[in-house]
Amino acid sequence: MSPLFENYCKVRERIRAAALRAGRNPAEILLLAVSKTFPAEAIRELYDAGVRAFGENRIVELETKAAVLPEDIQWHFIGRLQANKARRVLHCATMIHSVDSIALLERLERIAAEENISRKFLLEINVSGEASKAGCTIPEEIGALARCAAGCEKMQWAGLMTMAPADASQAELKMVFGGLREWRDRLEEEFGRRLEVLSMGMSGDFECAVEQGSTLVRIGSAIFGRRE
Ligand SMILES: *Cc1c(COP(=O)(O)O)cnc(C)c1O
Repeated sequence: MSPLFENYCKVRERIRAAALRAGRNPAEILLLAVSKTFPAEAIRELYDAGVRAFGENRIVELETKAAVLPEDIQWHFIGRLQANKARRVLHCATMIHSVDSIALLERLERIAAEENISRKFLLEINVSGEASKAGCTIPEEIGALARCAAGCEKMQWAGLMTMAPADASQAELKMVFGGLREWRDRLEEEFGRRLEVLSMGMSGDFECAVEQGSTLVRIGSAIFGRRE
């Protein structure tokens, strides 16, 4: 077995164990392989083992890799998105995890309509309020952004995403991930629609995220190794 796929399977097994501990069905959790900074050959190795969902955080890097890899890869854009790159990201990503402003979302919706394409997106929420993190923090802002999301037609609002602080304790992780789940429940009720994706959990904290309800974990270093 390829070494990378072996890592992938180990992560998948840990996801499964965490899901079962929490009384959840492991099949409802997507393992997104975050391939940023790693070469196309590494992605190809996992692709050949059957993996199809990959995450990237820079548009040029994503375009470069997408150009040399099979077309049925589902690319997730997980990085901060500059408005002037909106069109390019819509061309290559199936899901955008990092929508954190009305201006950005309106632009994505306008371009998607122009090009007559449809893409899923998540609202990024900064649950911990940590200043260095992207994402919407203030409840009023989240409300306004969610109203905009619910009104989109080409852009399909699929759920929420968050990142926990790197140095968070187990108690803090629980608060951040549990907090995102509560936001999801509240917004589902307010807008009377399903928000099926809760994108939370990275290499260092995904088991806690799964216990708190994550449906999509974004795993880089535990699969590909340390980034430079
Ligand atoms: C890099 C990155 C990840 C993966 O991080 P690891 O700790 O290597 O698993 C997940 N989410 C986002 C938004 C990232 O930028």
